[in-house]
Parts: sequence; structure tokens; C-alpha cells
Amino acid sequence: MTVLDTEPTSAPSGDALVVLDHVDKHYGDLHVLQDINLEIKRGEVVVVIGPSGSGKSTLCRAINRLETIDSGTITLDGKELPAEGKGLAKLRAEVGMVFQSFNLFAHKTILQNVTLGPMKVRKLKKAEAEAEAKKLLDRVGVGVQAAKYPAQLSGGQQQRVAIARALAMRPQVMLFDEPTSALDPEMVQEVLDVMVSLAKDGMTMIVVTHEMGFARKAADRVVFMADGQIVESNTPSEFFDNPQSDRAKDFLGKIL
Ligand code: ADP
Ligand code: MG
Repeated sequence: MTVLDTEPTSAPSGDALVVLDHVDKHYGDLHVLQDINLEIKRGEVVVVIGPSGSGKSTLCRAINRLETIDSGTITLDGKELPAEGKGLAKLRAEVGMVFQSFNLFAHKTILQNVTLGPMKVRKLKKAEAEAEAKKLLDRVGVGVQAAKYPAQLSGGQQQRVAIARALAMRPQVMLFDEPTSALDPEMVQEVLDVMVSLAKDGMTMIVVTHEMGFARKAADRVVFMADGQIVESNTPSEFFDNPQSDRAKDFLGKIL
């Protein structure tokens, strides 16, 4: 299954698409992001793992400006992220985000959920937006559900709609924050399969997940966070088979 219109790419192509440079953030006394330096190359798939409370969600939210940062810079394709206004809306379109909870509009159909953003932000006409949306829904395997409402779909189907909705904005990078954590176990794989195919199509992806099978299969790199810091950054096989830090060894001991 191919999810994108892009030609498949092989390795990450080299230039940095998302760059976090000395990023710090506090919540009151809590230093939730501590001097985060991270470069994500175009086409790269980075899996972020780490204990609960280590700052993974805050990191994702900072990247598309759902959270402010105290210092440092975050750039997308060389441009610093705008804090507000029109520039921010444009940026949000370039950074697709999929959350643990599906966040679909309950009172809109599946098709409307996917066409709203492109009509509003990309200024597509309804017919164009619907044609694109139908293709995307087909590609994530929920095309036949287009006229239904979110509550009529399973969790796995809803999460695939959420992915299609994010893709409809033609993002440069997709952020996934524990996209399968709220799903019944039998629905996890169908969502991971869509994500694997996106990765194979060359999408740049930042994925917070505890799904180690996905990390081994799809990640170019695993970033391990603990207590607001990036503790390790390595290839999946190096990270899983040969973790360097005690914190990573401890974490892997608990989840594997
Ligand atoms: P993770 O996603 O790795 O579990 P989070 O980024 O959600 O971690 O949270 C990191 C830390 O920041 C946690 O200790 C959490 O309680 C705290 N935190 C998250 N959001 C807020 C907030 N809006 N206000 C205060 N503290 C927060
Ligand atoms: Mg989180």
C-alpha cells in the first residue's frame, strides 16, 4: 500500500528538515526540556522513546508550537517557527500531528474531517479537496467509511482517518505522539502498518511510541529521552542491542 503521491526514497537525503538547537523549557520549577539538540533529516524516521514524564510529548508539541519554548531555536526547513499569526497557521500545515486520542471532529463526517483543513488553509475548492481526501482515505483503508461519523468507526479506523487528515495538508514532517497507545490491541497493527508504509514512501517522521517492533522495522534512529534530556541517539539495532547508559538499560529491561 502506498500512502503518498511522492516517489519512494531510500535513505534520508541529507539536509536537515527539523532542527532543535539548545531548546529549553520549564513548567514552573520543572525543567521539562533541557538543552535539546536534535536534527531530523528530510526522509528520516526518528522514534523517540523514554519513560513517562520524560518530556516526549512536550518535545512534539514544541515542534509545532502547541507549546512555547523558553530559549533556543526550532527551525523547519531552515526557517524559524513563528510563534503566532498567519505564519503559524502555515507552519501547522507543514507539520502534521497525530495524537494518542484521535481528535476527530465528532459532528463532521469522515470525509469532512479530511477536507476541512485543505479547504481552509490550502484554499482548495470543495471538489478538489474531496477528490484528494477520498484518495487518502482509500490509501489508509477507510475509503468506504467516508460518509460515516467518527463514532461509527473503530479506534483503529479513526486513527487512520486522523493520519489521512494530517496528510491532506501535505505536511513536510509528520509527528506521532503515542498514536497506538489508546487502541485496543487488535487495532494497533493496522495503524502501525500505515505508518510503516508512510516511512517507506519517504515521509519525514518523528514518532513517540513504545512499539519496539515498529522502531526496529521503520526507524532510522532511536532517540532515548529521560528527565527532559536526550540521553542516547542511535540506530535501532545499536540502541536495542547495545544501550550505553544505565537509564536506557533500565528502561529497556522494563519494556522488553
Ligand atoms: P512524556 O510525554 O514523556 O510522558 P510530557 O512531555 O507529557 O512527558 O511531560 C513531561 C513533564 O512535564 C511531566 O512531568 C509532566 O507532568 C509535566 N507537564 C506536562 N505538561 C505540563 C503542563 N501543561 N503544565 C505543567 N507540567 C506539565
Ligand atoms: Mg507523552
